[in-house]
Amino acid sequence: MANLVKKVDYDCPQCDHYHEVEVYIQKTQSVMEGNIVTHEETFYFCPIEKEEFTPAKIMNQNLLSARDAYRESIGRLPSMKIREIRETYKVTQKEFANLMGWGDVTVQRYESKTIQDETYDQMMKLVYEDPLLALKELEKHADRFEHERYLEIRDSITHLIKKNSLNFYKKQIIYASYIDFSEPSDMNGKTILNLDRVRNVIHYLSHFSSKLYKVNLLRLLWNTDALSYKKYGNAMTGLVYRHHPLGAVPIAHEELLDICNDLINIREEYLDHYTTYRIESKTPVDISFFTEAEIEIFDEVIREFNHGERKKISNYMHKEEPHSGHNNIIPFSLAGEIRAF
Ligand SMILES: [Zn+2]
Repeated sequence: MANLVKKVDYDCPQCDHYHEVEVYIQKTQSVMEGNIVTHEETFYFCPIEKEEFTPAKIMNQNLLSARDAYRESIGRLPSMKIREIRETYKVTQKEFANLMGWGDVTVQRYESKTIQDETYDQMMKLVYEDPLLALKELEKHADRFEHERYLEIRDSITHLIKKNSLNFYKKQIIYASYIDFSEPSDMNGKTILNLDRVRNVIHYLSHFSSKLYKVNLLRLLWNTDALSYKKYGNAMTGLVYRHHPLGAVPIAHEELLDICNDLINIREEYLDHYTTYRIESKTPVDISFFTEAEIEIFDEVIREFNHGERKKISNYMHKEEPHSGHNNIIPFSLAGEIRAF
């Protein structure tokens, strides 16, 4: 079934007049490298002659859409994404190809017609994730650039590294720290670590708790996971907690807070000769990310916290924390013994 999307004035090849023609989009199937893919195609319609036609430019677009559908079906980058990666580094198609050490027209072909093979696809993905790798590639192929242009590109990549990719490396540290916990177990509350989820949970807790310090936040995280485990048999985040003089503290907690720097603000405050870290939410919370049952858990944990848990937090923890298991990690099976709920 075709949908009318707009009308345009066009030099109509059907009736040889310049007039308004209708533009339609419909789902269609094409064969790409021996596979059938479903994708959208556009065609024009002359209401006078009642005939469909497809201008050459649109025909190319349709082919690109078929190729992108095929790329997506086998997990390769679609042409738009390749373009986006290139634009992140502020380089032309030819420059991007040279940066990667490829033939001049390689990227131009990938953005317009040819489907990239797996090795090239993988390289583009890596370079996108990790600007430091892009910088290495650029340095390796420096002789392909005019020196001045080389310095400009180097500058824009360096800028990206400083601006965005610290979080990328922090995430790598977190993944490496959780390498022993890649299966659901008593250590992670039968939940595999999901950093996107951790970020959203930290954001929620920071947003809806008043006068929150770092110690409190870490405590709320544990309480959230422990209560979720107690109620439903699964922790919410997949974090693994260790005993610490301050209470239950997730492994790699510094990095975990660092990767939330777009969502929360951490400010140093001096209280009674101690440095404390005040947490404040920076942006509104996307509540749709959570189920109703999860929001109930947050509300219960925050309510408990506001009803005085924050006052007794330090001495309470030494008394109430379950005994440590191996490596000081707190097993979730002991979460039920905690009296806080
Ligand atoms: Zn016509």
